[in-house]
Amino acid sequence: MPETPGEKDDVVRVNFQFRRELAEKVEGNLASFCYQCGACVGDCPAATYGDEFNPREIMLKVLYGLGDELLVEDSILWECTNCYNCHERCPQEVKPVEVIISLKNMLADLGIYPDAVEKVIKTFEETGRTTPLSAAVTRQRERFNLPPLPPVPIEEIQKLLEPAPDEGGADPTDG
Ligand code: SF4
Ligand code: SF4
Repeated sequence: MPETPGEKDDVVRVNFQFRRELAEKVEGNLASFCYQCGACVGDCPAATYGDEFNPREIMLKVLYGLGDELLVEDSILWECTNCYNCHERCPQEVKPVEVIISLKNMLADLGIYPDAVEKVIKTFEETGRTTPLSAAVTRQRERFNLPPLPPVPIEEIQKLLEPAPDEGGADPTDG
């Protein structure tokens, strides 16, 4: 008996639930406008210097809703440098980098991120900077006649980082 559409093993079924979850993240819904032209790949440093990273392929997986292949330990998403070259090249204004950042946020929500990212988060929580201000950095700034960096309002930042009441934080209206 001939196979009817949908019976083939190699048919990819779109996971709309994953696409809806991604769409709720900032800019996540832009992926729907990708028409797979590949323009985002040309100037992508992660694609140029990496082995497997390809923003067009990531957008294709997003279109199919293949979250299971993207939201995994050691996800290839972390190879994206957030340089925004793809954003400038995309004729559809898909902003692939913003979609990838949304996916990284989904990974972080699952508690999955590389040690290096955890270190940056910790440094930011403690200092208000993503890179600690060292004597070497100060010397380099002086060498290029750059002014000293202004102090960081760390108490204000730490206040902003406190969890909201519905996330287990203190209710600011109490007491
Ligand atoms: S450039 Fe834009 S439309 Fe083209 S493949 Fe990349 S994300 Fe999709
Ligand atoms: S932001 Fe990421 S995906 Fe876009 S060009 Fe840069 S490295 Fe590639």
